[in-house]
Amino acid sequence: MKTMNKRKYDYLIVGSGLFGATFAYRARQAGKKCLVIDKRPQLGGNVYCENIEGINVHKYGAHIFHTSNKEVWDFVNSIVDFNRYTNCPVANYKGKLYNLPFNMNTFYQMWGVTTPAEAQEKIGRQVKEAVDDINKQHAAKGESPVTPSPSGEGWVGASNLEEQALLLVGRDIYEKLIKDYTEKQWGRKCADLPAFIIKRLPVRMVFDNNYFNDKYQGIPIGGYNKLIDGLLKGVDTLTETDFFAPITEKTIKGFAQFGIDLSNFSSKTIQDAWKETANDLVFTGQLDQYFAYRLGKLDWRTVSFKTRVEETSNYQGNAVVNYTSHNEPYTRVIEHKHFEMFGAEVERCPKTVISREYSTEWQEGMEPYYPVNDDRNNNLAQQYRDLAAQEEQVIFGGRLAEYKYYDMAPIIEKVLTLCV
Ligand code: FAD
Ligand code: UDP
Repeated sequence: MKTMNKRKYDYLIVGSGLFGATFAYRARQAGKKCLVIDKRPQLGGNVYCENIEGINVHKYGAHIFHTSNKEVWDFVNSIVDFNRYTNCPVANYKGKLYNLPFNMNTFYQMWGVTTPAEAQEKIGRQVKEAVDDINKQHAAKGESPVTPSPSGEGWVGASNLEEQALLLVGRDIYEKLIKDYTEKQWGRKCADLPAFIIKRLPVRMVFDNNYFNDKYQGIPIGGYNKLIDGLLKGVDTLTETDFFAPITEKTIKGFAQFGIDLSNFSSKTIQDAWKETANDLVFTGQLDQYFAYRLGKLDWRTVSFKTRVEETSNYQGNAVVNYTSHNEPYTRVIEHKHFEMFGAEVERCPKTVISREYSTEWQEGMEPYYPVNDDRNNNLAQQYRDLAAQEEQVIFGGRLAEYKYYDMAPIIEKVLTLCV
């Protein structure tokens, strides 16, 4: 067997998203050699942006970097500087606009109240009505009543998202800003969804439209591709190379340019052959696929995007507008230029690119975006994780391989703590 350079690499990294790319960066800094492969035609995973009309378009969904972890913030800023973008989405309910997250601006737009005391009074009254209604229904079904939480803030015992939302903000906000949006996003009635989903949304008695509570927030100046390019600088990479696909002439050629001979594996996959290439494997692809779905398939939720160029410099005046009624089938419209262009820059770029975002049931062949947190999938994922823990010389990491929803910053935080 002709062998050019057996085990040339310390790590073969499957997936060039933030997990794989950050791992490669750290390994390279530690003097290790890495080869990163990705099945997509480009690097960067879900943060990859496509340049259209001079605008960085977030091809796999809008991404806003936010963290309170200074080490993570300093790390990403050591690769590329970040701008001052602050996420302040606006909700459009039947043509009327409201600020998000729920704050004094929203309460003013909803009821004309101008002070926190008036807002609290209004919400308090609606919450009280909700408590009475919910407890009547709970009593009729033989369920325990909702009660004030021991901390004195809010109520405990909501049995679904609808109840939770009503107890948090009352009926007006629930009906105009939560109900239809949530039904569109999850494809189910609010009464059939778990309460915890809505707890994430802040309710603020101040005039503050910042969607996140984190200390640091922004978008890489020049776009996310700069972050990925910086992380992968000096690292060998191969795109359009699927770990599970049969090795073709093209794959053989791809590896040969790095001095790796896979010609004896032509009827096999890279999964069969990876030990020829590296001492260890970092796997950031789908967990169940790694084990050939032997225990069954994990489900995902997905979103799809309809993207188009508009012949105007400013389409909606904001990066994110949520459509919170069933009048529109999409959940959000993203205007990408507002992530990176501010003030006069907006007008200087004569066109704009918008993406309408639709929540879609996941089917085979679609992008797997969000893990499904039900009992079947949680149990199955745990069984696969147990199998993964037994794999020698393999690190499973990232949102696909851990079957876990991660924001970007926690992914980086995790890789920074790994021993490379
Ligand atoms: P990915 O970025 O998915 O990278 C995995 C890579 O592995 C992909 O490039 C894929 O092609 C490759 N791969 C998979 N299988 C194979 C295979 N068999 N062979 C070769 N390559 C393979 N986070 C935030 O902090 N802020 C946000 O605003 C935000 N918005 C989001 C919006 C959406 C719609 C989604 C889905 C996520 C969002 N996130 C956000 C989360 C963020 O996308 C993730 O934290 C991050 O992408 C995780 O990086 P990763 O490397 O684990 O996965
Ligand atoms: N949500 C809502 N109206 C909005 C935005 C969010 O009702 O305008 C609800 C919805 O149920 C969503 C949850 O709040 O699932 C969490 O929203 P967030 O934006 O934090 O989550 P993401 O869209 O990132 O999953």
